[in-house]
Amino acid sequence: MGCAVHVLLIDDNPDDGALVLRALDREFPHLHVQQFSDQAAFDAALVAGGFDLVITDYHIGWTTGLEILRAVKHLHPYCPVIMFTGTGSEEIAVEAMKANLDDYIVKSVTHIARLGAAARAAVTQVRQSQALAEAELRYRDLFNGVPIGLYQTTPDGQIIDANPTLLHILGYSDLELFCTLNVRDLCVHPEGFELLQHALVNHGGKTRDFVAQLRRYDGSIIWTESCTRIVYDTHGKILYHEGALQDISERRGAEARMNYLAHHDDLTGLPNRVMFKFRLEQAIAESARRGTLLALLLLDMDRFKAINDTLGHAVGDELLKMLGGRLSGCVRDCDTVARLAGDEFALILPDLTHAEDAARVAQKILAAFAPSFNVDGHELFMSASIGIATCPADGCNLDILLRNVDIAMYHAKEHGRNTFQFYATEMNTKAFERLSLENALRHALERNELFLHYQPQFDLRTGKIIAVEALLRWRHPELGMISPPQFIPIAEETGMITPIGEWVLRTACAQNKAWQVGGLPHLRVAVNLSPRQLRQSNFIHVIEQTLHETGLAPCYLELELTESMLMHNTENAIAMLTTLDAMGIDISVDDFGTGYSSLAYLKRLPINALKIDKSFVSDIPGDLDDAAIASTIIVMAHNLGIRVIAEGVETPAQKDFLMSHDCDAMQGYLFSRPVEPDKIPPLLVSSATR
Ligand code: C2E
Ligand code: CA
Ligand code: CA
Repeated sequence: MGCAVHVLLIDDNPDDGALVLRALDREFPHLHVQQFSDQAAFDAALVAGGFDLVITDYHIGWTTGLEILRAVKHLHPYCPVIMFTGTGSEEIAVEAMKANLDDYIVKSVTHIARLGAAARAAVTQVRQSQALAEAELRYRDLFNGVPIGLYQTTPDGQIIDANPTLLHILGYSDLELFCTLNVRDLCVHPEGFELLQHALVNHGGKTRDFVAQLRRYDGSIIWTESCTRIVYDTHGKILYHEGALQDISERRGAEARMNYLAHHDDLTGLPNRVMFKFRLEQAIAESARRGTLLALLLLDMDRFKAINDTLGHAVGDELLKMLGGRLSGCVRDCDTVARLAGDEFALILPDLTHAEDAARVAQKILAAFAPSFNVDGHELFMSASIGIATCPADGCNLDILLRNVDIAMYHAKEHGRNTFQFYATEMNTKAFERLSLENALRHALERNELFLHYQPQFDLRTGKIIAVEALLRWRHPELGMISPPQFIPIAEETGMITPIGEWVLRTACAQNKAWQVGGLPHLRVAVNLSPRQLRQSNFIHVIEQTLHETGLAPCYLELELTESMLMHNTENAIAMLTTLDAMGIDISVDDFGTGYSSLAYLKRLPINALKIDKSFVSDIPGDLDDAAIASTIIVMAHNLGIRVIAEGVETPAQKDFLMSHDCDAMQGYLFSRPVEPDKIPPLLVSSATR
């Protein structure tokens, strides 16, 4: 035993006392023994404390060993007491054991050898348990005092213990109440606990920096970061989970703020160059992955420097803010508008259908900048030079795209500013053509440049005209006739198809009614619908209104839809078609065979007719595949009670094939091209007399 051992010895026999001393001396190199011959001295020592062991005889002049034992244990419950006596009895020994005696040694030459070892064992044990108790106390203090939340839970998340800091973090005042909870009760996100379990399993029973949102007692939500580990027993069985947790709400708020500041321009609030590059890189990867088209626009304000120089930076800053605002108004939610530097802005436009769409945005921006800016009483006129590069055409990586869009922007400046230029020069002509067509189309309706031609459909059995299809025509004042495949997609994309489509519907219905009023045989007029029209919520109302205004009976109107229109919004489509069907309007599926050609939906929808696409018709009967497809469509449609019309019939051979396969009707140049409305009455009259 290294450090000093302090022993109280009570034995009034000096010989025995010497015997004990010798035995102790051998065990403890640093020994301090206090011997007593009266009660008062002993009592004083007892109160003073600081001893490690008490050795007492049983028979003592002034008291008994039992009394000594009781007195010691009363004041120092953990201090070991050894009774060393030659006069004891068994009863005394039992009595002493009841009073918590630590050891009992009979005074004899053989037993004295045991005294040293017994003393040593007693002292060691008490020192160890003292150390343990102290350690426990220290750890409890630490557990209670650390400024980090500590907890233990069962593997299933039931809380076993928590320190006051954890209770404080989570707003609980009562540990007992807290220990009725499960971690799941605290998690804001239902899957929070499961995520933690996964993390534990995946990281060998330990997690670090596990971030989760927890709900406090008062319902408020905090961000926390925790480290948890699984505690096992020596056999590897899971005992419990324990961990430490911190409230990081403040830090997260600051981080979010820092993050925002690092990625945004503080003047305009737009993403800055860092963010822009990050987003562009993501957009490039996304476009490569999905095979979509991406455009990058680089904008440089024309003569911005002059404003800064003459009106000062405050005015310049204000103007930049306004520019940022107008720019943001020109794009979709998925687009990015960033301020790269000074008066340089950039736009990322993912997911475009055509490269020309980028030109449309550029044009929109130039138009948005056209109205003057009022800054501080100054009326400022601004314009921009815009470069456009597209991905993948003009480059598939960030650096090349940035370089090319820069080149394009300089071309725009050379082109006299307030304009845009593509990096790929051939795009400029295409985009320009498309845009001017688009602009012209905007005025086509009001300038009466649109009109309808009608193409008759013949009943293959009777040879009579049973319907006419209304086909849209546009005569451009300079470019002359523009074919539907050229302008209908533009009308679709820009949304102009909605008013145009309504005009077609009204004109066709009115025309049909006029023929009827003129005494001609009654027939249906078929009108082509665009997907956008079908998506309109008031579409049914538009139809009703049109029929009402023109006075045409619903059974003389047929609507042509394509397969994809039906496939893409089935639920909606079913509801709408059912209503139209109930109104008595005919529905036909146009271009059948080019799309999904799924008969399953035909069964579910109230369809009256299928139009076999002219691409199948053009090669029959020579092309065996097409012939097989056409005849199969006819058989299947008839099985479903659906009429079949063949489109684009140009030769007698085609007609013969279709007739022999029981096709119901046909439409094509063989009988008539689409013609002006006044060519229809003579056709009707001649077909009626056939
Ligand atoms: P569609 O509905 O398949 O119309 C039939 C097209 O085939 C018409 O072309 C017609 O002129 C042409 N055609 C008719 N018979 C023959 C033939 O024997 N041989 C050949 N080679 N072609 C024939 P068009 O008028 O150029 O119309 C093209 C497409 O434009 C139409 O295809 C339709 O999808 C769309 N369209 C036309 N008018 C409208 C409209 O008012 N609204 C909407 N949404 N789309 C329309
Ligand atoms: Ca059609
Ligand atoms: Ca067609």
